[in-house]
Amino acid sequence: MSFITASSKNDNFALLEKMSEHEQVVFCNDPSTNLQAIIAIHSTKLGPAIGGCRMHPYESFDDALDDALRLSKGMTYKCAAADVDFGGGKSVIIGDPQKDKTPELFRAFGQFVDSLGGRFYTGTDMGTTLDDFVHAMKETNNIAGLPEVYGGGGDSSIPTAEGVLYGLKATSNMLFDHENLSEVTFAIQGLGKVGFKVAERLLDEGATLMVTDINDTSLNAIQERAQTTNGSVTIVDSNDIYAQPADIFVPCAFGGIINDTTLNQFQFKAIAGSANSQLLKDEHGVELAKRGILYAPDYIINSGGLIQVSDELYGANKERVLHKTKEIYNTMINVYQQAELDHISTVVAANQICEKMMANREKRNSFFKWSSSPKWHIRH
Ligand code: NAD
Repeated sequence: MSFITASSKNDNFALLEKMSEHEQVVFCNDPSTNLQAIIAIHSTKLGPAIGGCRMHPYESFDDALDDALRLSKGMTYKCAAADVDFGGGKSVIIGDPQKDKTPELFRAFGQFVDSLGGRFYTGTDMGTTLDDFVHAMKETNNIAGLPEVYGGGGDSSIPTAEGVLYGLKATSNMLFDHENLSEVTFAIQGLGKVGFKVAERLLDEGATLMVTDINDTSLNAIQERAQTTNGSVTIVDSNDIYAQPADIFVPCAFGGIINDTTLNQFQFKAIAGSANSQLLKDEHGVELAKRGILYAPDYIINSGGLIQVSDELYGANKERVLHKTKEIYNTMINVYQQAELDHISTVVAANQICEKMMANREKRNSFFKWSSSPKWHIRH
């Protein structure tokens, strides 16, 4: 299997054109382990690039490259919004995560990461697991998001859920001028690692929940949990979640759930949840704004996991992470207020705020030589 084929001169220019917004793209090829991977570094202006490693049986080289370029740019914005001293990067391994994984493949990948000399930190993403990176870390120190037994911060869904809760409080504040969640109704899609924790915390605050999942065990567990709180839970069918008469929709399952079909069902006043890539297209963010539905940009409200992973490089500390996660509340309020003031969608407001932060920090960091700073080499 080989996706990387010889190309004409024109193709090479097209490739450079495609990566014109990116600092560096590395193509990794190790025939002895069948590793074919792409590492895309969008920006190291705010610090070394950080971003997960996705493994997927891409149908073409272009699909893999497009994914790496798009996701790494998204990481630059996510890092700026979370105010972590990292830039955006992402890596993709071309292969089937069910069939093509070997310890040697991840060790080879670790060597490529190491060859970048600290310009890129990576860890798990779709199709890769912590175990894969236990192999990769034998070859490089530039792995983030490790299990606690390896000195990492552990389960990132804990700070992610915490961040979502702060985002929900900010959203309630904007909608109702209060943060008493017992007076607010929520429709939660997905009771997995993040959604279940969010649901538990909302129940503890006495909230009214409508929830759905395709997994009956989680549904039974949340019903049982509700009995020990002042909150209440109603189970709804997966297809009916979009039309629930709830104040806030909390998507915590999968992406693309804000689209032409679901938009017409929404009676929600706001949408604020952990799922990645909630808007099927950017235009759907504008449509939400037109309909007066407040939208919490996903890359901000779900950044608790990134905050933990980036903080890990100073030495794992759960309390410090949860403290930093609180800042998501202020960032969300900022985005909502800016959108209201400028009559723009919250997505546009969020992007503008991130771009401004990057421009400001770029000036501040003009003398900042991160690659030689000992602060990035704590685990060495
Ligand atoms: P998860 O796999 O643990 O949970 C997803 C849940 O959604 C599962 O319980 C699953 O049964 C349920 N689900 C699947 N299809 C469904 C459907 N049709 N209707 C209702 N429920 C359905 O994943 P997670 O770690 O909780 O992440 C949830 C979302 O948040 C994902 O989009 C993820 O990318 C995003 N996210 C997670 C983290 C993290 O730290 N875990 C960080 C940032 C973003």
